[in-house]
Amino acid sequence: MMPFRYERPGDAADAVRLLAGASNGVFLGGGTNLVDLMKLGVATPDLLVDVSHLPYNRIEPLADGGARIGAATRNSDLAADRVIRARFPLLAQALLAGASGQLRNLATTGGNLLQRTRCVYFQDVSLPCNKRAPGTGCPAREGYHRNLAILGASPACIATHPSDMAVALAALDAVARVRGTNGERAIPLAAFYRLPGDQPDRDTVLEHGDLITTIDLPGLPFATRSSYRKVRDRASYAFALVSVAAALDLDGGAVRDARLALGGVAPVPWRATRAEAMLRGAPATEETFRRAADAELAEARPLRDNAFKVPLASNLLVRVLLDLAADQ
Ligand SMILES: Cc1cc2nc3c(=O)[nH]c(=O)nc-3n(C[C@H](O)[C@H](O)[C@H](O)COP(=O)(O)OP(=O)(O)OC[C@H]3O[C@@H](n4cnc5c(N)ncnc54)[C@H](O)[C@@H]3O)c2cc1C
Ligand code: SF4
Repeated sequence: MMPFRYERPGDAADAVRLLAGASNGVFLGGGTNLVDLMKLGVATPDLLVDVSHLPYNRIEPLADGGARIGAATRNSDLAADRVIRARFPLLAQALLAGASGQLRNLATTGGNLLQRTRCVYFQDVSLPCNKRAPGTGCPAREGYHRNLAILGASPACIATHPSDMAVALAALDAVARVRGTNGERAIPLAAFYRLPGDQPDRDTVLEHGDLITTIDLPGLPFATRSSYRKVRDRASYAFALVSVAAALDLDGGAVRDARLALGGVAPVPWRATRAEAMLRGAPATEETFRRAADAELAEARPLRDNAFKVPLASNLLVRVLLDLAADQ
């Protein structure tokens, strides 16, 4: 591991100032992804600014029935929070579907959102990878890509976004509040992550030195009837092959509204807006759910070894919607 300096600022202003003066510095949350990447030589910062002790570790109610989650809140605390469990069960379920108990005790909300892809080529500095070393190529396209993207990929990169929590937050229209050198701004999660295009090294719209301070969840009354389901190779300690975050609002036998997002299928948490549009006002039947799922996946462009994700995502979406509809 390269030598680095470590700082523990007392407040957000200090944290932002420290990184503004260090072009190769990074924030440190729980370190469960960043430190692994440093050991592998994938990340080589010369300064770590520890933001895990800043006073952003609370979950507070918002006036509209939503919640404000501090970026330093540990994943296990967020998953166990009574308000989150009662009002946003899909978020608690997504967190508990990720990593392990020990990791969740350390991992922070901000760090979870910014964890890097698990593409094997990205993690191996002896191999080319456009995301890690722009312009070197994408060996995954012809190589190992069973777990990679079927939606939103580009010729330059087909990596998937790894976070389970981010998929639930995308379905909930969460907003990241960010503090940078030019002050504070709010970024809806829908605009937070970038598709790879020809610049896959940039995962998000954040600029160097931008600190995530909180995540706002808007009040969504029907989020009480929601769920997160994840399909993976092992029952624990494995990233999603496909996951679904869904909230469903029924009006008698019809769908009044829905919020849907897919994980494990795209370089970003994939908000399923086409499926949502097809569901609104339609009868809450398996046929409707299937049509909506197929509409969302019509744009899928699978490769040699990941075509199984197309029916898997479709079937999982239908199953989750059927279960939510039966639960009303
Ligand atoms: C074995 C293993 C299995 C796992 N399985 C899963 C899984 O199934 N599902 C899943 O979702 N995740 C999984 N994870 C990943 C885990 O959830 C992440 O490592 C963790 O959430 C990252 O949070 P952290 O606080 O440790 O981030 P760090 O590693 O500290 O940081 C990650 C990134 O975020 C940046 N950062 C941190 N905080 C802030 C902030 N406030 N503002 C701006 N930038 C910030 C850092 O600079 C860094 O770039 C797994 C990890 C391991 C090691
Ligand atoms: S898919 Fe993306 S992360 Fe993986 S090798 Fe290709 S460029 Fe790198």
